[in-house]
Amino acid sequence: MSRRKTLPVQDIPFVGGCLCVDFVNITGARNTQRERERFQTYADMLIWSRRAGLLTSAEVRRLNANASNHPAAARRTLSRVRKIRESLYRVLCGVAEQTRPRADDVAFLDHLSRLERQRYELTHKGSRYELRRRESKEELDCMIWPIVASAIELVTSTEIARLKRCGECDWLFVDDSKNRSRLWCKNECGDRVRARRHYARYK
Ligand SMILES: [Zn+2]
Repeated sequence: MSRRKTLPVQDIPFVGGCLCVDFVNITGARNTQRERERFQTYADMLIWSRRAGLLTSAEVRRLNANASNHPAAARRTLSRVRKIRESLYRVLCGVAEQTRPRADDVAFLDHLSRLERQRYELTHKGSRYELRRRESKEELDCMIWPIVASAIELVTSTEIARLKRCGECDWLFVDDSKNRSRLWCKNECGDRVRARRHYARYK
């Protein structure tokens, strides 16, 4: 299938049905020679985060400026975010395929979950208390925390039973169809399988 084109980060579709699932779908064709790494630079992460609604244009501009001033820190953030993405992918894929998770992946997610919870603070407003996430949109890795929160929410909810791996590629999705009959992450994957079946019959 050499004609398959790799969608750039600015065009990658959001088909996962959940923020953390779309996050792990940023790359694809894992375990092949042609893995599609769409987070090549820190700026790629910002493009995706903006599209996912995690950052405003102004925040993207500020973070881009921050990254230019601290290129080594931006590279470290990129590599950490990729590491988080792949660990999370293994956890979610394991759920979808009902395989036992790796202990280091579970421990890493637990570690991230603790860090995420540390970001909440209790505030008093008017006549009530509120638990609010401290947002620091200046931090280079600020986009990762809502993704971690989304992952924890998904893996601990009943929705997790709807998580599937695409029948054609390595992307994941939450099947929100009524009879849970969705097989493909996106139409393109279903079309590819149908075309292959058609061609096999024709031959
Ligand atoms: Zn697919």
